Amino acid sequence: MSRAGSSEMPPPQPAPDSHSKPYWEHLARGELAIQRCQACREWQFPVLEFCRRCGGALGYEKLCGEGTIYSYLVQHHNVAPGFDALRPYAIALVTPDEAAHVRLAARIVEAAPDEVRIGQRVRVEIVDLAGGDYKLPVFALLADGASSDAVQGGDPPG
Ligand SMILES: [Zn+2]
Repeated sequence: MSRAGSSEMPPPQPAPDSHSKPYWEHLARGELAIQRCQACREWQFPVLEFCRRCGGALGYEKLCGEGTIYSYLVQHHNVAPGFDALRPYAIALVTPDEAAHVRLAARIVEAAPDEVRIGQRVRVEIVDLAGGDYKLPVFALLADGASSDAVQGGDPPG
């Protein structure tokens, strides 16, 4: 396998445990799935052992892959090997359409950082993580027309 820029150190690799392994297995198949309580149907992220609302058993279910930017930052400094050449880039907290209380942190692709806005609509893309066999979710901005009714600001905590 050849890769441009291979002189750069590869990024850190995930270290799945039994609870997070299905998350990475879904990504390997090109699917974004997170935990959902099989009793009360609450979505859960990050990975937990049991439902934080009712203590029920968790399973993995697919998300549609679209969501809204809740917040974001622009990464100017090199904080992890493997992403140096991409700087500056935006990392967003994305609220998936199915789960208003969930925030997925991921890089924004195919857009300059100054094009990124809170409330913008995004769609997931699943890309290879250099240095191994894992895949990662990233988000691309959807056309402005799709975000005309986006709500600014977030939900109150809790
Ligand atoms: Zn539950």
